[in-house]
Amino acid sequence: MSESIPASTSPRIAVYAGSFDPITHGHTSILRSGLKAFDKIVVAVLYNERKKALFSVEERIELIKAAVVEMGEDPARITVDSFNGLLVDYCETVGANIILRGLRAVADFEYELQMANMNRHLRPHIETVFIMADDAYFYVSSNLVKEAAKLGGDVYALVPEAVAAGLKAKLLTGTSGQ
Ligand code: ADP
Repeated sequence: MSESIPASTSPRIAVYAGSFDPITHGHTSILRSGLKAFDKIVVAVLYNERKKALFSVEERIELIKAAVVEMGEDPARITVDSFNGLLVDYCETVGANIILRGLRAVADFEYELQMANMNRHLRPHIETVFIMADDAYFYVSSNLVKEAAKLGGDVYALVPEAVAAGLKAKLLTGTSGQ
């Protein structure tokens, strides 16, 4: 009889960090797959003063929370937060030893590889794990969604419902997040 592998007692916590300006179905697709591999995922909005955003950090957090409700996943397994500074430091503060990243087109690869290597150099015990989005959302990015929406394009099937409503409201008022 084969011996069973002892289950690890500590929960596998992954941090999924990004701008999420706004969250798209590319992101929710990664989250859904990530939940198959990890017990908990911390979605962490990177707060970057230098980067001009359409949605404020607070708005992005609210939209992610609404997207999680729409996804119908157990909300206890996904927490939403924001951070600035080094991602590996943030991982330690939330007890995560996995960085979850999504892979899109080949264009993402080089930058992702550099970042994963740097993070491994900084904290060898933190592992970066890449997941591919559902192919329906492979080409979706927050930037493209915003650009298309601004020009009147119908992008609403590519984002959670709360984001579609948020985009409409933003584009009507013409305000930005920062
Ligand atoms: P962007 O603003 O470029 O859409 P973020 O900075 O919010 O992306 O990205 C956070 C993470 O989600 C990154 O790992 C990014 O590669 C991933 N991601 C975003 N959109 C997709 C997608 N459509 N497919 C796969 N991964 C994605």
